[in-house]
Amino acid sequence: MSTKVKFIIFFILVFWGCSCFFFTCKSSDEAPEESRIIEKPNIIFISIDTLRADRLACYGYEKIKTPNIDFIAKRGVLFTQAICQVPVTLPSHASMFTGLNPTSHNVRENGTFRLDNSERTLAEILKESGYNTAAFIGGFPLDSRFGLDKGFDFYDDDLSDRKDQETIQGKISWQGHKVSTFERKAISVVESAIKWLSSNKESSCFLFIHLFDPHASYSPPAPFKKLYAHQPYDGEVAYVDYCLGKFFKKLEKWKILKDALIIITSDHGESLGEHNYWGHGKKLFEPSLRIPLIISFPSKMLQPKAVNGLVRSIDIMPTILELLDQEKVTEIQGVSLLPLMSDEEEKKLNLASYGETFFPRLRFGEEELRSYRTERWKYIRLIKDNKTVREKLFDLQNDPEEIQDCAKKEEKKTQEFASLLARVIENDRKLAVNKNTFFAMDEETRRKLKSLGYIR
Ligand SMILES: [Zn+2]
Repeated sequence: MSTKVKFIIFFILVFWGCSCFFFTCKSSDEAPEESRIIEKPNIIFISIDTLRADRLACYGYEKIKTPNIDFIAKRGVLFTQAICQVPVTLPSHASMFTGLNPTSHNVRENGTFRLDNSERTLAEILKESGYNTAAFIGGFPLDSRFGLDKGFDFYDDDLSDRKDQETIQGKISWQGHKVSTFERKAISVVESAIKWLSSNKESSCFLFIHLFDPHASYSPPAPFKKLYAHQPYDGEVAYVDYCLGKFFKKLEKWKILKDALIIITSDHGESLGEHNYWGHGKKLFEPSLRIPLIISFPSKMLQPKAVNGLVRSIDIMPTILELLDQEKVTEIQGVSLLPLMSDEEEKKLNLASYGETFFPRLRFGEEELRSYRTERWKYIRLIKDNKTVREKLFDLQNDPEEIQDCAKKEEKKTQEFASLLARVIENDRKLAVNKNTFFAMDEETRRKLKSLGYIR
């Protein structure tokens, strides 16, 4: 072969090689981000009941494997300091869906309240703008009778088709309701969502998925029961992650995952022995109020990052609407978190979070609790018979475990926060006027609420 021919062959090979390299690059990458502007991207809103942020691997917990939630976190915005407004399932979800504090939507407890018909919910707004809306519920507190089904075309709150035999059997009387089952396993919720999506995936969908498993009692199925034998709560969290993995796999297969707006959060945390308390609802300490919040939206070119400023459950709804360029809802307490998410450098919103729980008062005749929290300070007020019986103040920066009550030492600060709390309650209350949120419960429950002065 002559040198000239060799040179020509070499040139052709180099040219072919280069072409292949560029073709490979382009095909292995997704289409350039700029060209993927989706008019109505799918929205997947996942609420994992009773999930503490600090029990997820993506929040730095090393004793658990949550690869599927971590995957979404890795490509999204992770809020390190997200706070719920009330550590009770129905009121907290009502706040997520309306952008309102409980003082305004006036849903104060599970079972004995319902969301008023006049509320404008996230699902309603999305349905009006052309979304196909569906919800898949894991626990009875969100049954459609309590009003959270507003705006959903399909609301699957049928807990009876569960596969899990460990779930409570028989008729249970709870808050005046006779129910045969109280919850269903995550796999049943996820399978229902997959089934619905398989025949609706050609339309733009808003899916709300509620998974109840980390809620007590903690009894994860195999193999998680064995893997997390010393910490069954973690086992429930790992099991939920596994079920979400199955769901995300389907989304990927149907090419939904890459463009969808995905939100992962919780309605409240769980106290695992802190302050000698197990559970949620009775206290306003951080383990009950701290929640995870992850928002991933690759097609909007949201860059992965961690946001450290304080954010709240009530901010989720306005954030979703702004991300979708939807109408701005007025007269709500939540704000869009987009200013924290979009820039390289984190902006400051300096948000303050209102908190409350009426659960001890309505369920046990004890104190009701209210709180006002900034990034550094948390003020808690205990109220009995409409009178303040105790005030507490915690410096979260120097005392993150809320051990040292410095209400007396920091008297001026305590007074300042007491009046800030009073102002929030007063301002919010105007929006609660004329809202009919009492559920027509049985006579016994009604009498109990009446004796507590809660209903007339
Ligand atoms: Zn809950």
